[in-house]
Amino acid sequence: MPGVNVLQTSHFRESKAVGGPVDQPAFLNGACLLETDLPPQDLLDALQAVENTLERQRDIRWGPRTIDLDLLLYDTLELDDESLTVPHPRMSTRRFVLEPCVEIAPDFLHPCTGYSLRELLDNISLTRHRIAVCGIPGCGAAQVASTLADATLSHATHGCTTLAHILMQSQQATRQQAFLAAASVWQELLASGEREESTTHVADFWIGTLAAVAARHSTDIEHSLALDVQSRAALFEPPHVLIMLHVSPDALRERIRFCQGPLAAASDIFKDLEACLSGSSSPAGNDHATGNHDEAWCDHLLSLQTDIERMLSSQRTLPPPLTIPKAVVHIDADDLGEAADEALAAVEAMA
Ligand code: ATP
Ligand code: MG
Ligand code: MG
Repeated sequence: MPGVNVLQTSHFRESKAVGGPVDQPAFLNGACLLETDLPPQDLLDALQAVENTLERQRDIRWGPRTIDLDLLLYDTLELDDESLTVPHPRMSTRRFVLEPCVEIAPDFLHPCTGYSLRELLDNISLTRHRIAVCGIPGCGAAQVASTLADATLSHATHGCTTLAHILMQSQQATRQQAFLAAASVWQELLASGEREESTTHVADFWIGTLAAVAARHSTDIEHSLALDVQSRAALFEPPHVLIMLHVSPDALRERIRFCQGPLAAASDIFKDLEACLSGSSSPAGNDHATGNHDEAWCDHLLSLQTDIERMLSSQRTLPPPLTIPKAVVHIDADDLGEAADEALAAVEAMA
C-alpha cells in the first residue's frame, strides 16, 4: 500500500467467535505495526479498500467475514468521528486483539488510560474479575448488570438507586449525609459481593459517578465533601472492567414518561430514575431551574452523563486517588436488549 510500511507482524491465532451469530466458525486474528504518512481517515479508507477487494460483506454484525481490518491505535491519537473511533473502542477487553498486540508492541500505551498493552492483557487475564456497570439514573445499569451476572453465572450487586438518593437531595446538609451514606453502603455491598464464590462480580454502580456529582457543586462545604468522597474512593478497588451506559435525550425523555405513567409501579425497571423524579421539585444544585420538573431532571441527568463521560476520557480529569479502570467499554443503552448483548460480548471476549 503506498504510504504504508509494515514494521512488525504477529503470528496468527485461532479464537472462538465472540458476539454475533452462534455456531459461526472460529476466527484467525493477528496484529501488525505500521509506519505511515497517511492521516487516520485515509488509512481506514485504504484498509476498507483491501476489505472490499477481498469481498468483505457487512450484512450481519460480528458475523463471518473473509477479512476484517481494524485500526486499533494511531500513535497517541484520540478521535471519535462518525466513521472512525481511535483507539478502537472495544479493544481493551478483547483477548483476540490484545494477545497479538502484546506480541509485537507490549509497551505501546493506550492513550486514554495510559496503560500499556501488556497491562491491559494482564488485566483481563486475572482469575477473578470485578465488573462495574455505570451511568446516570435511567440508563438501565441494574438490568444490564443482572443480564451479565445471569449469563456468566456470577453474582450481581445492586446499589444504583443510591446515586438517585443523592441527586434528589436539594439541601446541602442532607446531600452531604447522603453522599457519606452512599460511600458506606457501596463499600458494604461490594465487600459482601466479593465474599461470593463466583469468579466474576458485577455491580451496577461505580464510585467515580459520586466524584462527578461532587464536582458539580463548588461551594466550600461541597468542596470538603468532594475531598471526603475522594478519601473514601481510596478504599475502593477500581473495577477491572467498567461498562458505561449512554442514553440519548429522546430515550431518557421516554423513560421519564414511563416512570410517571401507570405501568411504572408494576415494574422493577428504572427504579433509580423513578426515585429521582419523586424527589424535590428541582434537581439538586439546580435551584434556578424553573418550569417543567421533568425537563429540568432530563437536562440535569444528561449533563451529569456528559461529566461522567468526560471524566472517563483521560486519567487527568479524574480526582486522585480515583483512576480510570484499565478496561472501559462505552455502550449505547437506548435499546437495553442490545446493550446487554454488547456488554456480554465485551465480557466474553476476555476469555
Ligand atoms: P468491531 O468494530 O466490533 O470489531 P467489526 O470490525 O466487525 O466490529 P465493521 O463492520 O468492520 O465492524 O466496521 C463497522 C464500521 O466501524 C466501519 O464502517 C468503520 O467506519 C467503523 N469504525 C469506527 N472506528 C473504527 C476503527 N478504529 N477501525 C475500523 N473501523 C472503524
Ligand atoms: Mg473488528
Ligand atoms: Mg472492522
